[in-house]
Amino acid sequence: MAGELYVCATPIGNLEDITFRALRILREADLIAAEDTKRTRALLTHYNIAVPLLSYNEHNRKQRLPTIMAKLKEGGKVVLVSDAGTPGISDPGPLLVAEARKEGFPVIPLPGPSALSAALSICGFDMPQFTFTGFLPRREGEREKLLLELRESGRGVVCYEAPHRIEAALASLAKVWPDAKVVLMRELTKIYEEVLVGSPGQLAAELERNPRRGEMVLVIAGAKDGGQEATPSQDQIRAKVLSLMEAMDKKRAIKEAAAELGVPKRLVYQVVVDLPGRGETD
Ligand code: SAM
Repeated sequence: MAGELYVCATPIGNLEDITFRALRILREADLIAAEDTKRTRALLTHYNIAVPLLSYNEHNRKQRLPTIMAKLKEGGKVVLVSDAGTPGISDPGPLLVAEARKEGFPVIPLPGPSALSAALSICGFDMPQFTFTGFLPRREGEREKLLLELRESGRGVVCYEAPHRIEAALASLAKVWPDAKVVLMRELTKIYEEVLVGSPGQLAAELERNPRRGEMVLVIAGAKDGGQEATPSQDQIRAKVLSLMEAMDKKRAIKEAAAELGVPKRLVYQVVVDLPGRGETD
């Protein structure tokens, strides 16, 4: 029999969230390549499945590739799982999938849970199009630049966030997209599942009052999704400041532009930060 690679979604919390087909294929597998063997072992034990596990993660994936490919060449059935949810969505997967396909092995998805689809399904926004950022950039400047671009795109946004970076993410959102409608979903499908809705400022204040940990997804409605009023683009903001600067200094022009366009002063400042003020040399 020819080898086959299955890419299998596993629960993001509640162990019951797994398909009959996934359980059958896991049971029939010759090898399970798992991002987190401890977590996968707990799942397999829960369902009385005894199949050899091989650790396959971001750090060892290149070294593990030959072992997995050898198993496929022997005609084995290999299942790839990540620590939770769907492999390939902010998780290892693409390298093995590409390699297996290159060698002519069938690559078969076993669809199921993902924090992305779970969050979208209950965010309550009608988002025919959206941008999935995965994890937001760690650096404040890069994060704010990206969020500004996303806001201007008019599309809704879904972000994964690490628990220790959620405050920073909300602070960045509050700066560049203060009127955003945000749904923060935490510990989906688990005992302490929680959904918080509000502006970035409201959510940041709530987290300051009562800090939360755990796994989190943010969904932000886009302008076209009824999320907020249309906001001026960076080009419009820049043009406004430039025209005001013909009659006043940069500092006043920023203040004036913010008032006229109805956007936060800080946002205007960010868009024109590279413009020299009158009398400045750079
Ligand atoms: N591949 C996974 C998937 O399909 O959902 C995502 C893996 S990514 C490394 C982990 C991130 O997914 C977490 O930091 C969090 O943002 C999100 N996540 C995973 N499980 C979650 C849960 N139960 N509730 C909320 N967010 C979750």
